[in-house]
Amino acid sequence: MDLLEYQGKQLFARHGLNVSSGRAVTDVDDAIAAAAEIGYPVVVKAQVLIGGRGKAGGVKLASDEGETREHATNILGMDIGGHIVRTLWIEHASDIASEYYASVLLDRSAKQPLVMFSVEGGVDIEEVAEKTPEKLIRHLVDPLAGLSREEAVQIATSGSVDADVIEGVADALVALYEVWLEEDATLAEINPLIVTPEREVRALDSKVSLDGNALYRHPENQSLSDAENEDPIERRAKEEGVIYVKLDGNIGILGNGAGLVMSTLDVVAGAGGSPANFLDAGGGSDAEKIKQAVALILANDAVTVVLFNIFGGITRCDEVAKGLIAAFADIKPSVPFVVRLDGTNDVEGRRILQEAALPNVHAAVTMNEAAEKVVALAAGAGVRARG
Ligand code: GDP
Ligand code: MN
Repeated sequence: MDLLEYQGKQLFARHGLNVSSGRAVTDVDDAIAAAAEIGYPVVVKAQVLIGGRGKAGGVKLASDEGETREHATNILGMDIGGHIVRTLWIEHASDIASEYYASVLLDRSAKQPLVMFSVEGGVDIEEVAEKTPEKLIRHLVDPLAGLSREEAVQIATSGSVDADVIEGVADALVALYEVWLEEDATLAEINPLIVTPEREVRALDSKVSLDGNALYRHPENQSLSDAENEDPIERRAKEEGVIYVKLDGNIGILGNGAGLVMSTLDVVAGAGGSPANFLDAGGGSDAEKIKQAVALILANDAVTVVLFNIFGGITRCDEVAKGLIAAFADIKPSVPFVVRLDGTNDVEGRRILQEAALPNVHAAVTMNEAAEKVVALAAGAGVRARG
């Protein structure tokens, strides 16, 4: 669950990181009122879940009301990498002496938290990592001990920060680690972490992703899941209690059991197809649940063909077949379906499907056969007409 910059900064502030005061607004008049309240100069910042806002023209300094109006008008509604700007963050502008980079994430191969730091902040950190890797400090943390202040001082020192801000940078790193750990974040990143001419260390930007599965431990963070920024189909799935993740392709996928769905994605990709979603209908899916899942998959306009891959265990294939028939009666899909039923009551399930003679439903016996069929159908499918 990705947070907007200003939401991440709220978490930063909660853990004692320095941030500039500001206000989130959604229209030009409020932007002007906020700027007057905060005091000029201000910076007007697009709030979208994508980086590189500065380069795209979504971060602008304003020294008076006229400039605030101009920038707010331009930035609201702007398309930054496919994300439409609906919220602005207005904060008091900072003077910048240096721009550093800091982040905390989990290094999965090392199985340890990783703190990264560089004095080459503000820019693309990937570029720093590639061209001058010696300038990106990577420090693995003992997960039981946490990041000690001594280690943080060590990171700042090996990163060659100005001597007078070593303490300030160390404080920021310890606080950032605390954000990552205590908020159950998967990523906590500051770029740039600035030093002001007064030598204060401050987070000028934030990139925070929270672990959605740990959200129940943080009721105070629940409101941060910005409904406006969340994918509408994923939100609907969450409300309906279906495990659904939207992907970039055009092949709708339904399976039962996370492992089976993941292997289905792999097999489809291996056959040259591009999955449109992950959907785990779960164990013991009844007809009603299947109908609901079909509706979710088809809510994505990119879907041109659907693959059902069911391995019956607790889930009975005859129930899945009934669900599919109910879904067809209700939704009347205009795209082809490939259905593979295997396991508990599969013979009965296939018989029910055959008797129903649903239009444009193709049976497959093995997973590979199903993947090949669905990829061939996807290649043949043109733009989908809504039935
Ligand atoms: P990003 O482009 O999406 O990463 O957005 P940032 O919040 O990092 O802003 C981009 C750049 O704008 C920063 O690297 C700064 O150089 C500049 N910037 C942002 N806020 C301020 C500010 O308060 N004062 C000044 N002088 N520059 C700022
Ligand atoms: Mn940034």
